[in-house]
Amino acid sequence: MSSQLELFSRNPGSSLVTRALYLAVLRIGLVALCAGAVSYFVNRSSIENAVRQQLMLSTEQKLQRESLPFKEIKELERNFIAEFDSIYARTDQKQGLVKDFDRFFYRHEDGSYTQRPGLFEGQALADGQQFQDMSATYAPEIVPNDDIKARFALSFLLSYKYGSTNKGRLFNFYGVVPEKGFPIYQSADIAKVFTYSGPDALKLETYEFYYRGFANATRSTLFTRIYFDFSNNAWMTTVATPDKPDASGKHRILACVDVLLDDLMRRTAKPAIQGAYSTIFQTDNDGTLIYDPEHAGEIKRSEGHASVRSLKLARFQPLLDATRDAMPGKVQLVDTGEDIVAVGLIPETPWALAVHYPRALMQPSILQNLAIVIALGLVTLLVEIFIIRSILQNQVAIPLQRLMQAMKRIGGTGGKIDCSDLPMKAQDEIGDVAREFAGMADRVQDARDRLESKVMERTAALEQLNRRLMAISETDELTNVANRRRFDEVLSMEWRRGLRTGKPMALMMIDVDWFKKYNDHYGHQAGDECLKAVAAQLAQHVHRAGDLLARYGGEEFSIVAPATSLDAARLWAEELCADMAVLDIPHIDSPLGKVTISIGVAAIAPSHDRSPEQLLREADRALYRAKEKGRNQVFAWLG
Ligand code: GH3
Ligand code: MG
Ligand code: MG
Repeated sequence: MSSQLELFSRNPGSSLVTRALYLAVLRIGLVALCAGAVSYFVNRSSIENAVRQQLMLSTEQKLQRESLPFKEIKELERNFIAEFDSIYARTDQKQGLVKDFDRFFYRHEDGSYTQRPGLFEGQALADGQQFQDMSATYAPEIVPNDDIKARFALSFLLSYKYGSTNKGRLFNFYGVVPEKGFPIYQSADIAKVFTYSGPDALKLETYEFYYRGFANATRSTLFTRIYFDFSNNAWMTTVATPDKPDASGKHRILACVDVLLDDLMRRTAKPAIQGAYSTIFQTDNDGTLIYDPEHAGEIKRSEGHASVRSLKLARFQPLLDATRDAMPGKVQLVDTGEDIVAVGLIPETPWALAVHYPRALMQPSILQNLAIVIALGLVTLLVEIFIIRSILQNQVAIPLQRLMQAMKRIGGTGGKIDCSDLPMKAQDEIGDVAREFAGMADRVQDARDRLESKVMERTAALEQLNRRLMAISETDELTNVANRRRFDEVLSMEWRRGLRTGKPMALMMIDVDWFKKYNDHYGHQAGDECLKAVAAQLAQHVHRAGDLLARYGGEEFSIVAPATSLDAARLWAEELCADMAVLDIPHIDSPLGKVTISIGVAAIAPSHDRSPEQLLREADRALYRAKEKGRNQVFAWLG
């Protein structure tokens, strides 16, 4: 844990983990941004494509569906005319029809006709025939001849037949003769619509279906302008089909149906795609509006005359243009900038249906998709941060830290190199490094161990050498006792110690007697051997720690004896003298005949007003006195 903290607490941005995380944030941020941009454009186009496709399909279905009632009406009208033609062609029927005319109609004084009273209400004729909901009027201007009478009666019969069999499905059904004969099957529950109120009550020539239906020498079906029928409180149009004109271009009959448009408008108000809205307009020059929820008021006030042109609806212009030469039932997609519009002609009608889909509706779903992509990017980022952190930290940073610590241990002094916490089992590059490192650590440890034992070996040898050197530097070469240098050192050291303890310190000066003569007689070599023997003899009597026997110079020796009284020193000196005589080294030129020694002894308690030199001088003087007194003796000097 501490190594982790150390890793993160180092220079921010320089840690491996932090840098990898920065890079991950940068990389995934970039990817998310690009993905967002790509998804935005891909989504926009795919959503738009889906919208377009749905618009196409639903609008095409709608066109087909809305055309069905009109197709049926047209067929009915054509059937009506066909039946009319076939009966009318038979001359044997004519007389009967003329009679029917007189049975059905009642002649007013002014020469006009209406249906007999009671017929509308369903009162039966003498033969039991009933014509409920059927009314008729005939203008008085032209006195009806048999042909007119026959046609009018036939139209009356057929209007009743077609009207009553389609009751509830169609509104009014009527077959008009051009001589202003107007028999009508009335679906509406309006009693006696055509009650007699004078010859000009029904000015047929002012009705659009009438003047347009008989105007041209064509037999194609026409739709009147839509009109608002106040008695039914509904929008309507009249669909009228004339018969085939004769050679002079005249028609004999015109089949008409009044169609209620309310259901169509209600369905149009609810397009299949939510948020879209629909309009219906006529593909005439002005683009007369049939249904437009935005301009319903204008359409009503103008009684169905409001148009794309009169209302200056520029956005409809491309729709008008698109439908100008279009195939009925085929949908085209038109972009008006603000909207995508599916527009097509409703078959069997002069109308175009347009479904407008505002582009703004797509924005939320595009943004929603974008938000999903960005959210996904963020989740990816979090996951990556988590993974990078755990991988880098556990598998790289911490193992590296351990390696670093192990390296420090190798660099440091002493101690065994411990590699137990290195990630040696990891099967990756770090594991390889750790294993290599552990191998190297072993070799380093080995080398270090070898070096250490060698150093120890050498140090021991050096110490021995040093000890030997030291001994050599403090030992007299000839006699192997301490030399003068060592004597001086010990004397001043013991003097200082004596200063602290206050105990007396004794000093002996020992000189071989008549030694010049010994040399002269036996030779210098023998002199040396004699000196060695004297030293060895003296050494046998120096045992106490702190006592020191030294060769003072030439054939003179000295013994330093700390914490020793003069008396004790004197006794000891006499012992030395006696033992030397007992050794009995022959000396021909000595009056005693053997090698002897004289010893001067002095002792003082060391003090600051005295010095070791004083002790030396006194011992020297004592020696002088011992020589004076005949040699081979001790003289103790009380200082
Ligand atoms: P005395 O009894 O008064 O001490 O007479 P001495 O002859 O011993 O005294 P002296 O001082 O006259 O002579 C000392 C002699 O010791 C002189 C010298 O040649 C000899 N001597 C000094 N050092 C050595 C040495 O290392 N080896 C040998 N062989 N002789 C030495
Ligand atoms: Mg001497
Ligand atoms: Mg001498």
